[in-house]
Amino acid sequence: MLKIGCHMSTAKGFADVGRTAEKIGANSFQFFTRNPRGGSVKEWSDRDISAYLAFADSHGFVPPLAHAPYTLNPCAKDEALRKFAFETMEDDLKRLQKLPGSCYNFHPGSHVGQGSEKGIEYIAEMLNKLSDHSTTILLETMAGKGTEVGRSFEELRAIIDKVENKEKLGVCLDTCHVFDSGYDIASHLDEVLEEFHRVIGLERLKAVHLNDSMNVLGSRKDRHEKLGKGTIGLDAFAAIINHEKLRDLPFYLETPNELDGYADEIALLKKLYQEA
Ligand SMILES: [Zn+2]
Ligand SMILES: [Zn+2]
Repeated sequence: MLKIGCHMSTAKGFADVGRTAEKIGANSFQFFTRNPRGGSVKEWSDRDISAYLAFADSHGFVPPLAHAPYTLNPCAKDEALRKFAFETMEDDLKRLQKLPGSCYNFHPGSHVGQGSEKGIEYIAEMLNKLSDHSTTILLETMAGKGTEVGRSFEELRAIIDKVENKEKLGVCLDTCHVFDSGYDIASHLDEVLEEFHRVIGLERLKAVHLNDSMNVLGSRKDRHEKLGKGTIGLDAFAAIINHEKLRDLPFYLETPNELDGYADEIALLKKLYQEA
């Protein structure tokens, strides 16, 4: 069974997202834990969560993927910004205990001129300060725009190496980001996955963001495109979702779409997916 979802708003609650996801053919979804730009958060209602969990259970859903606000910068130069990133993640992780099995994905951050080594140090420092938690945290592979940390598998490996609780640490591979950072998943998927395995270990890969790219290989741009309309192309996505090392992972669309566009892409992916 293809595990597939897209990025969705939880403004009307989780039970509503579950029903909407089901309508567009998904069996999972990704959501922002709070306003992606700011830090504000609405309290989660236990009643809503229970209703969602019951719906998910009876409809064969897999746990959703939580995404931290992308404005958090765990490796900012300013200590107050680093503290804000830590406190936000700490609070998100506390709340995510209500969604068992879900992972928490975040952008490692931008070193803003301090150098990636310093950035990596700060990111690991923050992860090591987080209290015990049951949720697996995922580092997202980044395109490398500006001073983003995490644009190479080696940089992610360097973060992982410095983190004590490695058990609860994984990676989310974003197809647009890795392509934009120079990994040719369009023509050399096997080689890229071999490299991922050699540097990080495929056992750490817990989720995949399926996005086509508006830009060329190695552009370091990070502009998502609809599947099949960009430089990665539909053949590559068919190969990715069917690849023996990837096919059982959950896939999430973050393409520039409204719900009906997502429904079309999910239907297309299901057609391309070869049931084992
Ligand atoms: Zn992201
Ligand atoms: Zn992504």
